[in-house]
Amino acid sequence: RPHILSGMQPTSDSLHLGNYLGAQVNWVTLQENYTPYFCVVDLHALTVNPDPAQLRERTYATAAQYLAGGIDPERSAVFVQSHVREHAELAWVLNCITGFGEAGRMTQFKDKAGKRGQENTSVGLFTYPVLMAADILLYDAQAVPVGEDQRQHLELTRNLAQRFNSRFGETFVVPEPYIPEGTAKVMSLQDPTKKMSKSDEDPKASVSMLDEPKVNLKKIKSAVTDLDNNVAFDPENKPGIANLLRIHSALSGESIDVLVERFAGENKYGALKGEVADVVTSVQGPFRERYLTYMDDRAELDRVLAQGAERAREVASATLARAYDAVGLVPAA
Ligand code: ATP
Ligand code: MG
Repeated sequence: RPHILSGMQPTSDSLHLGNYLGAQVNWVTLQENYTPYFCVVDLHALTVNPDPAQLRERTYATAAQYLAGGIDPERSAVFVQSHVREHAELAWVLNCITGFGEAGRMTQFKDKAGKRGQENTSVGLFTYPVLMAADILLYDAQAVPVGEDQRQHLELTRNLAQRFNSRFGETFVVPEPYIPEGTAKVMSLQDPTKKMSKSDEDPKASVSMLDEPKVNLKKIKSAVTDLDNNVAFDPENKPGIANLLRIHSALSGESIDVLVERFAGENKYGALKGEVADVVTSVQGPFRERYLTYMDDRAELDRVLAQGAERAREVASATLARAYDAVGLVPAA
């Protein structure tokens, strides 16, 4: 079975609907035919200097949300990135074949660094995509199920793998992106030209997977749309409505055409929002309940994560040994 790898950062208490629809839904489907490795990428979260107690809690919370979303720890290796040392070690090797200008062209870095200002931007944030390349290449992953925002990072991963292979001999599998169609980019409820993001400071911008249903109802009701009050699928001119239609369609399975027909006519924004809130709640409510159950049993979570890390290390250590040998590092006697 071919391998897949993906992960999420423990940068907030709750995943949002974008993480769920853009990535996690595909993780669950892919576990049928692939050998999956799903990690909580805590080393990545360090790039934005999180509070230590909060990072610890959010690492468990993220793992519990993997399980709540339908990841089966018997079929998938569910683990914490820092439990497998090979991630940091391979990242160093890859840092040494990454161009400074190449890393500087990453738009996520430019966005995040722009917001934080130079004084608050760490070197870690700069080399974040190289660590991500290490995450993927360690597992010989053929596919990487992520949202659209990760496409450029994946392209860098492919370039690094090809560069390494041609310079030092075949070592890494060159991975393909696996990006869903409709919901590859779930947009902010408050600014539908920006993606929904864990690090968005405005809580009204994101549908949290762990919110109480009534909180989400309120957020969806107050989602920013447009003044035209005529439901149509027009991502260019009506990004807020397009976002709501995509969310509805992804969760309910109804096509966008069918939805547009149902809400055709004037003054249907309220009705559309009401239905979106219903379909969101019907998925997110039970998700939240399962999450709470998993969080109640830390010993069981620790057991799952230990088992996942053990499986991950089996593959990761072999790949790292191959890479170390290829570049000429002498093995420890
Ligand atoms: P942060 O703001 O801290 O970077 P994030 O919301 O971008 O958080 P990540 O942990 O960086 O979340 O990403 C986890 C996964 O979720 C990735 O596969 C990413 O592509 C996907 N993802 C993130 N935001 C969205 C979104 N708005 N729509 C679809 N997929 C998304
Ligand atoms: Mg992100």
